[in-house]
Amino acid sequence: MSWRDACGAGGDGKDFRVLILTPHGRDAVLAQQTLSRTGLPSCVCCDLKQLCQEIAGGAGAVMVSEEALPRAHQGEWGSLFGAEPPWSSLPIVVLLGRRASFHNFPLLRALEIRPNVSFLERPVPRRTLVSALRAAIEARRLQYQIRDALDEQKAANRKKDEFIATLSHELRNPLAPIRSAVHVLRSLGDDAGAKDKADRLLAMVERQTDHLVQLVDDLLEASRITTGKIALKRRPVTLAETIHQAFEISEPLIANGRHNLSVSLDEEPLVVDGDPVRLTQIFANLLNNAAKYTPPEGRIQVSLKRDGERAIVSVADDGIGIPQGMLSQIFDLFSQSDGAAGRMQGGLGIGLALVKSLVEMHGGSVVAYSGGSGQGSEFIVSLPLAATQSDDCELSDGALPMGLQRRVLVVDDEVDVAESLGLLLETMGAEVRVVFSGVEALSCVVEFKPHVAFLDIGMPAIDGYEAARRIRAMREGAGLCMIALSGWGRDEDRARALEAGFDQHLTKPVSADALRKVMASTACH
Ligand code: ADP
Repeated sequence: MSWRDACGAGGDGKDFRVLILTPHGRDAVLAQQTLSRTGLPSCVCCDLKQLCQEIAGGAGAVMVSEEALPRAHQGEWGSLFGAEPPWSSLPIVVLLGRRASFHNFPLLRALEIRPNVSFLERPVPRRTLVSALRAAIEARRLQYQIRDALDEQKAANRKKDEFIATLSHELRNPLAPIRSAVHVLRSLGDDAGAKDKADRLLAMVERQTDHLVQLVDDLLEASRITTGKIALKRRPVTLAETIHQAFEISEPLIANGRHNLSVSLDEEPLVVDGDPVRLTQIFANLLNNAAKYTPPEGRIQVSLKRDGERAIVSVADDGIGIPQGMLSQIFDLFSQSDGAAGRMQGGLGIGLALVKSLVEMHGGSVVAYSGGSGQGSEFIVSLPLAATQSDDCELSDGALPMGLQRRVLVVDDEVDVAESLGLLLETMGAEVRVVFSGVEALSCVVEFKPHVAFLDIGMPAIDGYEAARRIRAMREGAGLCMIALSGWGRDEDRARALEAGFDQHLTKPVSADALRKVMASTACH
């Protein structure tokens, strides 16, 4: 048995026992009785060989009388009793005879310089012996804490390595088709079918880019979860509406799997005080998983009902199920079933951790049930209902006005990024001017007089923050709506942008949908 196994469980009480070795059996029995009266478990060893075996089986301390140690042994305690793991330094109490000679006794000399060894000269008062052994056991307890912390660290490192492997795999998947598409697009001729082919390839690039953006967003969300930086924008929300929104998000996956979706929603509008975007995210994650982990043409059932002052939403499927051993960890960050089936579906093991945090932030709880592999799964979310079930809680993101006839300035030192954003804004009806530096932005604000300006943050010479500060200080910039564009979407990045004078902060790459929403929101600016 290894040291780790020996000391790992602790459940059998061996971790804290005192191993006793004395040459006279009577002394050993007396010592054992004394220890047992003070609540210290012990084990008497009849010889050195047994002591070695028992140490390997787990020990809190060793009490050994000098006469029981081998006289001629030249080496260290370690070579006699086996090497210890780095966290361990087994406490040893040596009972010395009156005339013990360290000089003639190499092992005693070796023990003298070893940490955690106490020498007690006989006759030893009972109190002295007990307190020495108690101190030894306490020292051992601290060592076990270090051992447990090291084990936890090892497990976390293993998980991180697994996660990085999954992440690389997931990032590489969409990159391969994008690269092939670029290659084919370059070599496309101008024959009749070329336009059709290019459209198909561009649609594929768009899908794969969306997927990449989703992965990066998930990663940022994971970092926000672990740092507790998700803030809810609460208002009264009807759950049925957020569930419908979630259906829209998950629809492509459900359609792709040709799943049979059945829905049963309580007729009474159930209103919670929540963040509609985050609530939709909760249900979309559960629906996406149901679709991902259910073989084609499976069944997915969604229900919403009231239970007293709570709303209960269940998302059930008859898919691959969850092994029993996995159920307790399913909501942990980066946790995924070992089975290849789970892994093959793609994903980073973030969705359910996010679901749990978001549900809990809404004062609710979420549990997972499954009969085991192949038995399907059910996720039940319970949320407290709002105190007053209000009527005016429709979601705000209805049809957004397009074709905003506004002057928009785009500033980014990356030419492709700036120009593509400019083109996108033009398709929405804006009059656009694109420049590639903070300095140009300052003069363009004076000359072009934009209503809205999108400014990249990371630019050489004058960065986005500095440009925003200077623009705000100008007469033409006072009423300008400024939007920061940055690859960083943490709360502190947002706060820094607002502090510099920006009105909003968007994380790159900005989707057409997000852009449209921002433009709509700037209309009343
Ligand atoms: P991801 O789907 O990206 O792996 P999640 O956090 O959403 O991450 O899910 C974690 C794991 O839980 C999945 O990898 C899968 O093993 C398991 N799981 C989640 N939902 C289901 C489900 N409906 N049926 C079976 N397994 C599921």
